[in-house]
This record gives sequence, C-alpha cells and structure tokens, in this order.
Amino acid sequence: MDRVLARPWCRDLAAQHGRSWVAARLRAVLDQLRNGRLALPATDEGLADLVRAEAARASAPSLRPVVNATGVVLHTNLGRAPLAAEARDAIAAASGYGNLEFDLAAGERGSRYVHCVGLIAELTGAEDAVVVNNGAGALALALASLAGGKGVAVSHGELVEIGGGFRISEVVEAAGARLVPVGTTNRTRLADYARAVESGGVGAILKVHRSNFRMTGFTSEAGLSELAKLGAEAGVPVVYDLGSGLLVDPSGLGLPPEPTVSDGVSAGLDVVVFSGDKLLGGPQAGVLAGKRAAVSTARSHSLCRALRSDKLALAGLEATLALYRDPERARERIPALRMIAAPAAEVERRANAVLDRVLAQQPSREPSVPAGVEAGGSLVGGGTFPGTRLPTALLVVRAGEAAEAWLAALRSHDPPVVARSRKGRVVLDLRTVSPDEDAVVASALASASARLGSLLVDAQLAEPS
Ligand SMILES: *Cc1c(COP(=O)(O)O)cnc(C)c1O
Repeated sequence: MDRVLARPWCRDLAAQHGRSWVAARLRAVLDQLRNGRLALPATDEGLADLVRAEAARASAPSLRPVVNATGVVLHTNLGRAPLAAEARDAIAAASGYGNLEFDLAAGERGSRYVHCVGLIAELTGAEDAVVVNNGAGALALALASLAGGKGVAVSHGELVEIGGGFRISEVVEAAGARLVPVGTTNRTRLADYARAVESGGVGAILKVHRSNFRMTGFTSEAGLSELAKLGAEAGVPVVYDLGSGLLVDPSGLGLPPEPTVSDGVSAGLDVVVFSGDKLLGGPQAGVLAGKRAAVSTARSHSLCRALRSDKLALAGLEATLALYRDPERARERIPALRMIAAPAAEVERRANAVLDRVLAQQPSREPSVPAGVEAGGSLVGGGTFPGTRLPTALLVVRAGEAAEAWLAALRSHDPPVVARSRKGRVVLDLRTVSPDEDAVVASALASASARLGSLLVDAQLAEPS
C-alpha cells in the first residue's frame, strides 16, 4: 500500500481527492485483485488505470443531468420543469451573497418574503403573495393559518391523492384542521358547502382542482365565484388548490381549457395555491396568492418559516416570472411551454435527422434491428392534463426481447438518455429533448447499436405519419 501510494499517479489522485480516501479506493482495488474479481495488471500503468476508474466511480455525483427522451414534459422523476436560460443565469448570480433579507435602500434588515411578490401580483391580479418551498407546503400553510384548527369543508369528489402519497385528507389533518367532507363523489353543489358552514365549526372552504384525473358523466361542482361569495358572506376564507400554476391561456399552447391562476384570483377567492415547477415552468416552489388579509395571515404563521424558500429558488422563480410579462416571450423562452407547443412536424424532422446521424455513426456491419419514425403522443405530465396527448413523432427501435438492454445502454451513456419501452419497442420522443441535445441522443443510440445491433431503417415504420 505505502509503496503504491508513493507513486506519482497515486500522489496526483491524492492531491485531487485526499490521501486517506484514495488509500481506501486503492485498498478496494487490491482486495478485488486478491480475490480474483479483477485481473492482475501487467504494469504499473495498468494498476493506475484500475485505481483511477475506481476513484471516478466512487466520486461520481449522485445527482446527474440526464436527457429526457420520454416525451413527458413535466417528468417528476426527472426534476419536472427544465429551467429557462434566464432562470439558470439568475440562480448562478444568486449563489453568492445577495440582498435576500437586506433592504439595500435603508441599509438594514429586510424580508425574504418581498421577492417575487410584485411580479406575482402584476401577472395574476393578486393583492399579495407568499412563496414557499413547494405547492404541498403552500397548501399546508394555507390550511394551518386560515382554518384556525377548525373544520375544512371539501367536496367528496376532491379528496384526491396528488402523488407521492400526498392526500388532501391527510394534509388537512397535518395542518391541525378537521376534514368536513361535503356533497358526493360526483356531485357537490353550493348548497352542500352552505349547509356545512351553517352548521358551524368550519374554519375554511377548500376547493381542489382535479388536475390529475378526469370525472365525466353525471357530475356537477360549485363554481369558483359562488364559493367566493359564500365564503365572504359567512366570513370563512376560501382556499383554491390549483396545483399547476398555469399563467397563460392554455389554448395558445394547443391545450384544452384549464383554469389559470388569474381565473382563481379574479373569482374573488381568498388564496390560490400553486406550484412553481409544473405548468409555470420554474424551479420547485409553492405560491400562495390572493387577498391581502389571507396572505398576511399565512405569512405570519410559524409554519411559513419552516417552509421558506431558499435564495436560489427565489432567483429562478423571479427570472421565470419576469418572462411572463410578455406571454409570447414566455412561450418562446420557458422550455416547458416551448416543448408543449412544439409542432409534431418539427419533432418529426428532428427525429429523422437523429436517425440519419445514428445510421452514419453506427458500425458498418449487417443491420438487423428495425427502426424508424412514427406518429405518437407526448404527455404534459406532472399530474396535469390527464388524457391529453400532444401529437408527436417517435423514434422507434424494434428491439424485441432486447428492449430493456437498449434502455439500459442508453442510460449508461454520459449523459444518460432516459427513454421508454412498450411491447419490445424502444421509444424516444424528442419533444422533451432540447434541440442542442439531439447529437447526444444520436451518440447514445450509436453506442447502443455498437453493442446490441445495427439499425435497419424500416420503410413500413418510417412511413410519414
Ligand atoms: C402538484 C399538486 C400539488 C403539490 O405541488 P408540489 O409543488 O408538487 O408540492 C398540490 N395540489 C395539486 C392539485 C397538485 O396538482
């Protein structure tokens, strides 16, 4: 050990990672050589390569950038919304010292809760807003601060689970309030809320936007404005959990109707709660926006401190929100919106170009794996727009039994490319790939084909959609 550690290459590694850490990696390699799991290298340089490889493996960061070729735009497992360049720059700029809680004009202590508020008010019509760590936190804060430990009236049809085991019924309880279910699963009228409020003990009314599933058939629900009116008359705050934070008209993105934050605010609800990293396209954040009194109550609750947003998220959110001053600019600059709005023909052109690049890069042996571009559907994701499929073009590799091996090969690329498979078909949707990453997808496919078989363009498959 000591002799190896004294060698120049080992000293170089130690300068990079620290001597004791490198000694531990060397010990691991020597153990593997002793028990035969690694072949004994013939030269000192061979040993150096083994230890360097072990050091590289052990020091690789846990959190890595990946290429999202799944076609799910707001992919929660892949970090939801990719940020606009403006937001990335703002986050980098905010990484050092900043006026997070410092009033530069007065030269004294300020409040972190002032940031983003003016923009949110400007964009949504809200009187005031508070930004916290995420949407779930914003909802918990709204209920804890506004329901005052009393009952929260919620429609039976809105006692939903959002994902990751986050259930409305449990959030109400965690916020120290009591669930008061009203109406039925399919139909809840204003009178149902009114009856609950009249019978006493209700501290807040909660309306939850059913963002992640659809209910059709014999259904009805109370409107936002009538709920706001009922709440105002009874002196009971109304909280609207909108979920996704849509700030632009969805028809401009080719999406079906869906309430925006402004819809909730203009209906006169006390607070609208939404997420920063769903349809808003910003960093992880939760926003509570609405009437001055309700927001102020939430901001002074002790839970607000526990859920507060960090400077990086605030910087990213502010830069993202600023792009919405011009909705056209927001659609162009915010990747999630741009990806949702991308026409299928553009995705198809890129898919064909990637396929051509793979054919040019792959080894010139007998091609055997059919591949092509065909029509399909992308998803908005993040538990939004259930059942909406955005027409797209898919790059398909008919790998059969080897489909999982192809997916694993794509994931082993640096950076990893995450795709999907269905019934022996490996499917890549470039809608969710930034155009400047197309070359990465081509190189990942070419490396996979070098291992698993060359692609054969299947005219049947490649027919225009
Ligand atoms: C996603 C969602 C939330 C939670 O927001 P996060 O930012 O993911 O914490 C809450 N309510 C609804 C309706 C949602 O769709």
